[in-house]
This record gives sequence, structure tokens and C-alpha cells, in this order.
Amino acid sequence: MKYFGAHVSAEHGVEYAPLNAHAIGAKGFALFTKNQKQWFCPPLGEESIEKFRENCRKFGYDAAAILPHDSYLINLGHPDDTSLTRSRNSFVKEMQRCAQLGLDRLNFHPGSHLREIGEEACLDRIAASVNYALEKTEGVTAVIENTAGQGSNLGYRFEQLAYIIDRVEDKSRVGVCIDTCHAGAAGYALETAEDCERTFAEFDRVIGFRYLKGMHLNDMLKPTGSRIDRHRNLGEGTLGETVFRYIAADPRFDNLPLILETPEEEKWPDEILRLRSWAGEGDEG
Ligand SMILES: [Zn+2]
Ligand SMILES: [Zn+2]
Repeated sequence: MKYFGAHVSAEHGVEYAPLNAHAIGAKGFALFTKNQKQWFCPPLGEESIEKFRENCRKFGYDAAAILPHDSYLINLGHPDDTSLTRSRNSFVKEMQRCAQLGLDRLNFHPGSHLREIGEEACLDRIAASVNYALEKTEGVTAVIENTAGQGSNLGYRFEQLAYIIDRVEDKSRVGVCIDTCHAGAAGYALETAEDCERTFAEFDRVIGFRYLKGMHLNDMLKPTGSRIDRHRNLGEGTLGETVFRYIAADPRFDNLPLILETPEEEKWPDEILRLRSWAGEGDEG
């Protein structure tokens, strides 16, 4: 089974996310467990936690179908020590929120060197941040997302993700999420089935499918290699439908949250239906 879904709103409380996912026919979903644009976050209330768990049970969402995303403010490779500490503490809090909600993974962007330190020094900081967070928490896997390589964001090469994983002590609690738009923007070709074959073979060689904990399914505005992170709805960008048909039909992507972050939300129900039909999944599941 493939857990196709979208990054749904939790604006009025985390407990609404499974309802919003169910309303669009999703079999999985992503959410922010706090306001993603603010450092401040009040603790989750007991009632919210209970309702979230209850709604997930009611609509059949296992932890394996849910991929929470951390705040955009967090930079686990920050060159400045004070800022790095703030990011690390905030990340630990988000890991703890996931654990409270019964979730087993947290998706994050690796970090940015802000042109103040070198790439390796920044990757070392990110790995140390992951080790710090894993030590302070239990049961939640840190899921590194590949990036488009816009600005000074690292994680646009599979080798950079592998470099971080190599330095994480507990390999059982580190994984990756591959965003198709980010991969294309970073220069990995995904337009044809042959491109997909080559790119995912490279992914398997450099990182390994055993580390794959989720995918973000997004078409792309700009051409391959632009390093510009602009998402489009499926089949409406420069990638086209092929890569999404490829992922839907390939069992290596089974039992993972496969999440739309496409801009026109009203198209999500139709995108999910198309993905499910490409996967050969009927309405019964
Ligand atoms: Zn992301
Ligand atoms: Zn993404």
C-alpha cells in the first residue's frame, strides 16, 4: 500500500490534520505540529493529543503514513553557536511533540552555512545536532530532506545526506525524505523513466533505500538544475507525470508517506486519485 497524501493544515490544532487528510481522500499526510514561522510554541494540550490519536485511529492513519515537518526557522548547521543552540533546542522540542502524538519520524531541512563556514563544517554541525537530538529523545527518527540547493542550503547532493548519516551514531533513527522538485532543481534528472531509473539507482548506491522514510511529490517550475525551489502541481511543471507514475508503480516506495506539497490545494483530491490509479489501487483500500 502507498500512503499518498498531502501536507494538510493543522492551523486550528493538530487534531484537525487527520480530518483534513481524510476529507481529500488521503491515505497519509504531513503536518506542522506547531506554527512553522515562530520560535514560540505553547505545549500541546492533553485534549489535542488525545483527539489527534483518536482521529488517526478512526481514519486509519498509522505512524508510518504520517510525516511531520519541522519549523522553517530551525537551522541545525547554523554557523553561530548561540543560534545553533536555539535551533537544536527547538528541534528537540519538535521531536518530543512527535513522540507525544504517537508519531515516529520528523522531516527537516538539513541546514545552511550562510556563507560563514565551509560546507563540511556545516554538515558536521548538522550531524552533531542530530546526535544531540537523538540522545535527548526516544522513538522518533530524524528524517533529512534533500534540498534544491537554493542559497546556502545544504543537502542538495545525495553525498551530503550520506555524509550526515555516516556521522549519526544511532543509524536506526536517521532517515531521508526525497522531494522530487528539490532533486530535479538540484540537477538529478527525473523527466523520463530512464532518468528515474538512473537517479534512484544513484540514490540507492549513495544513500540506500533502507533509509527512505518518505517522499515529497512535487512537480517543478524551473528546468532541471536551476537550484530554484518552486513547486508545481503534478504534470503541470517541467518534470511532467512520468516520475509520479514511476514512483506509484514501484514497490520500493510502498508503505511510506508520499506527500504532495503542490501549490493548488483544490487539486489534491484529484492528484491523490490519479496517483492511486497509477499504483493500481482501487477504491476499496
Ligand atoms: Zn521541506
Ligand atoms: Zn519538500
